[in-house]
Amino acid sequence: MTKVSLGTKTAIEKRRHKHPKIEGGCLCGTVRFRIDNNFSNLLICHCKQCRKTTGAGSAANLISTTGSLELTNGADLVTTFRHPTRYFTKAFCGLCGGAVPYLNHTETLCFVPAGSLEGEPEVTRQDNIFTEERPDWCTAGYLAENHIGFGSVFEDLRKQ
Ligand SMILES: [Zn+2]
Ligand SMILES: [Zn+2]
Repeated sequence: MTKVSLGTKTAIEKRRHKHPKIEGGCLCGTVRFRIDNNFSNLLICHCKQCRKTTGAGSAANLISTTGSLELTNGADLVTTFRHPTRYFTKAFCGLCGGAVPYLNHTETLCFVPAGSLEGEPEVTRQDNIFTEERPDWCTAGYLAENHIGFGSVFEDLRKQ
């Protein structure tokens, strides 16, 4: 098991308080982690970098200040990319590409991809950020028809 420590005194003090844990992992299950289920923020980011790394309209990242991240499996497979000019980091499993948690540049905050968690995170505040970079197709997607599973999407495609 690899314990990841946050460096600030505040983080160390907060670590002494006990919170219930939440677990998560990548798609193939090789990288596994657990962390205090006590997140300060959930950021839904629509910036260009988040679109490129997810292939989706936005990325959803939780922020933890408690310093409690523990990588319980697959730590050696975690690959980290830091953008050379913008404040942007992405960590992922080297086998399946699934998003996994990482520390910020100064190692004072832990960012946890919300979709990597199993269970509902406890979050104090949620915001959409960089909405000026959100493309029209993403905004339109929020208003599109909802289906259970694939719905009739492929059936309708065959009829064309
Ligand atoms: Zn994986
Ligand atoms: Zn972003």
